[in-house]
Amino acid sequence: MSNASVLNSPAPHTILREVFGYPRFRGQQQVIVDHVIAGGDALVLMPTGGGKSLCYQIPAIARQRTGRGVTLVISPLIALMHDQVGALREAGVAAAFLNSTLDWEQTEDIERRLLAGQLTLLYAAPERVGTPRFLGLLDTLHAHGSLSLFAIDEAHCVSQWGHDFRPEYRELTVLHQRWPSVPRIALTATADAVTRADIVERLQLQVAEQFVSSFDRPNIRYTIVEKKDPARQLLAFIEREHEGEAGIVYCQSRKRVEELAATLCEHGIDALPYHAGLPADQRQRHQDRFLRDEGVVMTATIAFGMGIDKPDVRFVAHVDMPKNIEGYYQETGRAGRDGLPAAAWMMYGLQDVVNQRRMIDESPAEEDFKQVMRGKLDALLALAEATDCRRARLLGYFGERMRNAARDGGDADHGPALAYCGNCDNCLQPPEVWDATDAARKLLSTVYRVQEQSGIGFGAGHVMDILRGKATDKMGQHGHERLSTFGLGAEYSEAQLRGVLRQLIAVGALQVDAQAFNTLKLLAAARPILKGEQAVRLRAASAEPRRARQRRERSATPLAAADLDAAAQARFTALKAWRAEVAREHNLPAYVIFHDATLAAIAARAPQSPAELQGISGLGATKLERYGEEVLRVCRAA
Ligand code: ADP
Ligand code: ZN
Repeated sequence: MSNASVLNSPAPHTILREVFGYPRFRGQQQVIVDHVIAGGDALVLMPTGGGKSLCYQIPAIARQRTGRGVTLVISPLIALMHDQVGALREAGVAAAFLNSTLDWEQTEDIERRLLAGQLTLLYAAPERVGTPRFLGLLDTLHAHGSLSLFAIDEAHCVSQWGHDFRPEYRELTVLHQRWPSVPRIALTATADAVTRADIVERLQLQVAEQFVSSFDRPNIRYTIVEKKDPARQLLAFIEREHEGEAGIVYCQSRKRVEELAATLCEHGIDALPYHAGLPADQRQRHQDRFLRDEGVVMTATIAFGMGIDKPDVRFVAHVDMPKNIEGYYQETGRAGRDGLPAAAWMMYGLQDVVNQRRMIDESPAEEDFKQVMRGKLDALLALAEATDCRRARLLGYFGERMRNAARDGGDADHGPALAYCGNCDNCLQPPEVWDATDAARKLLSTVYRVQEQSGIGFGAGHVMDILRGKATDKMGQHGHERLSTFGLGAEYSEAQLRGVLRQLIAVGALQVDAQAFNTLKLLAAARPILKGEQAVRLRAASAEPRRARQRRERSATPLAAADLDAAAQARFTALKAWRAEVAREHNLPAYVIFHDATLAAIAARAPQSPAELQGISGLGATKLERYGEEVLRVCRAA
């Protein structure tokens, strides 16, 4: 056990600069770090990419340097601990992990270093924490005053309202019960009020100070399009805007994951499938390639992504609609952690609405749980159908008001009250809106009349056929040409009527009955629409990918490198090749060695001496010492 004398702690910003090579704190980092260094408990809510890790890593370093011992980090993802710890070691921080991937000898070695006071951070999976051996270790550390801080990452895993519930997280209360004097910091990117309250309750964080950051991710451009031909639309999106760039494509089913990955590959895109049904070693291989190689597209179910801290994911596409806004926002948040332009692009259609409703209806959960889930789905549908700023709606959902972006030319037409972010599809190209009140009334009354006449309900396709006056066999069989609404909506296209149906389901005027062949049923909210008391205004069914969008420039110019002149570009390329080698040698992703932005900054500066490398963001003291000479050599040679 170490007997470190209590030293004066260096100021947090000194650690930030020296260890991590960053000139300044972001957002609330500074206040959080100060609070935790002083021994306060904290609950940190920050969006993905906001910089949560430093909120406990800097206190861990500061507290270790003043003789308070090791910080225990609970992280749910064994597969990523290696890279997280690798990144810290690259920065010269004594970190290690304990998990089931280590053999006995490695485990003993780490335990020995832990008890010798040689570690600043120890990462462990939640299931390990409750084991007698581990509790014994912590007891010993605590008895010597060497248990400094508990950091609980991805804290929403403790809540069933979050979307990654892990029962093992519930056991973490033992930390507080057994060692109440050790401060705790819990962190999550999930912000809704129900989940937050649940985290506080479950982890007994009632006295913890809450630090809620803005959830806005200004560099992410949100776009939601109507689903027509998913594979073709996705392909067009990637080829048009993200060729050669890393991205994630989320699908609802494993089958779809595999099909889409194959389709993308056929078109020359470096795509890999990922879902829980693949063998563990294959999943690991695909994840490694995504993290380590450039420009890989991961086609995945939501089993993929938590804890992935790859900074240069340029797009996140949803081919199927997710379950709720929390999930959607968390998943899209994986794009653009480096702060450079990135895209969140979602497709949705009537079938998505039907499927998601059915999954809730058929789940074995309690009725009030289902009710909460339906409410969350409705909020997402409203977002998808929205004709105003997506970002304002997203932030509004998390209880936050958006600050309007400046408008070019500041035209007064829109008035100050209208939310405008300038970086979502609706702001960039306001959608056409049509008055669908008449179509909605006709659809609803058709559903009503069919039910009345035949005594059974019918599906969406047939109901639309009636309204459009199509003489199908089914029409004849049921005598539906005689209905008063037959042919009454001939002026509407099927796409328009689908849009109306989607909206009617979204607002709870219609229900799709999964127990009866997906037939349509009227619900209470249909009444005011039928009576003409409530107007229905909808997005005009968009034509094929709109011209303006095709002309749109690529959303992400290849990083800061775009601004480099030819000589600097050559240095940048050489530095990347060198980095790839180092990364391979160290068995770590390239961005753990240096971010692209750091390499671009070096390339731009054309450094001749170590002194000229000072002050480049992302180049801390250890990296400077370890790689400085090499970097200079590569630059000179290029
Ligand atoms: P989160 O865990 O909140 O999603 P991370 O801790 O992974 O975010 O940080 C996201 C990215 O931002 C990382 O690449 C990190 O190195 C970088 N970063 C964090 N804080 C700062 C800062 N103060 N200055 C510059 N870069 C930062
Ligand atoms: Zn907007």
